Amino acid sequence: MTTAVCFQCGHLKFGSFMPCDQCQARPRTDDEMIASLAMSDHYFDQPTLEQMGQYIQEHGAPPRLDPESEKVFRRNFEEIKASGALNQLYEELDET
Ligand SMILES: [Zn+2]
Repeated sequence: MTTAVCFQCGHLKFGSFMPCDQCQARPRTDDEMIASLAMSDHYFDQPTLEQMGQYIQEHGAPPRLDPESEKVFRRNFEEIKASGALNQLYEELDET
């Protein structure tokens, strides 16, 4: 399972697109999903994720990505979206 940072409260949770077990938020907009995708152990190590979580707790928003990384994450996200994997995930979540 992926470790990811909650885009809303900074809590470390499992799975970028899964609901946070702390604040129950799950990403819905593209920007929230890209932030959630980026802030995972696919891209960053645990100490960095913890720093990002701390940043969110202090600022109430995820740290901004530099434009180059943002482009890469946006492209990755578009690929995931195009694959239909998200729709499947959300159908499963909505049923529970
Ligand atoms: Zn949360």
